[in-house]
Amino acid sequence: MFGFGVRFQSYLRSAARLLYPASCAACRIPLVLDETYLCIACSKKIEMIKRPACVKCARPMAPYGDQRSVCGPCRSQRPHYDRGFAFVLYQEPTQTVFHQIKYGKKPWLLKIFAQLLLTFSRSPEINAYDRIVPVPLHVQRERERGFNQAFVIARTLARFNHRKLRIDHLLIKKKMTLPQSRLPRTERLKNVRGAFSIKKASRVRGQHILLVDDVITTGSTVNECAKILKEEGAARVDFLAIARSQTS
Ligand SMILES: [Zn+2]
Ligand SMILES: [Zn+2]
Repeated sequence: MFGFGVRFQSYLRSAARLLYPASCAACRIPLVLDETYLCIACSKKIEMIKRPACVKCARPMAPYGDQRSVCGPCRSQRPHYDRGFAFVLYQEPTQTVFHQIKYGKKPWLLKIFAQLLLTFSRSPEINAYDRIVPVPLHVQRERERGFNQAFVIARTLARFNHRKLRIDHLLIKKKMTLPQSRLPRTERLKNVRGAFSIKKASRVRGQHILLVDDVITTGSTVNECAKILKEEGAARVDFLAIARSQTS
């Protein structure tokens, strides 16, 4: 019975592939039946962020650092967030995958990272938070794109979590900013300054908040969000992103 079910499913999949041939989201070669979204070669190129990484900004550090190290830029710039988590390096093929997700409007490609989200959602760390807050998009950009990738990630985390963590849209983006990826570092700080505001101030005081975003480059966006949440009395603000650039 079980065997038949599996065979039937694989038959359906083969039939679907014949009708709709799939190609790799990164290198575009046609996928074989066992591959979903990415070819095996591209999957293998996704590089995990190995420890030690900076406990504040999740930036990978030299191998001799200890597990509680804080990187040089975090020591001098003292970001407003308390701790950061990121899973993979923001480099190829991950960059192309996120480009496809956001500009190709393919939110389902986030499933490539589902296992990482599942593991994190069941880790002891996540139980320290009262609220998960997706980094918002400007309403006009979300309308154009049809979704906010940070919300899709937050929702996946909440669904996987046994405690059914609460997602709270505490922030709104009031300023239409340029995509951070197109700006040099100094401009990125200016670009996001004053770009967000708090929608529900009464729900911030004393709270432990996990900000969720897709990609962290300089960290300016999550830092700006953490700043206004702290000003409103949040006790702790951490962030989680799927990908992080190696340098800023
Ligand atoms: Zn590929
Ligand atoms: Zn750091």
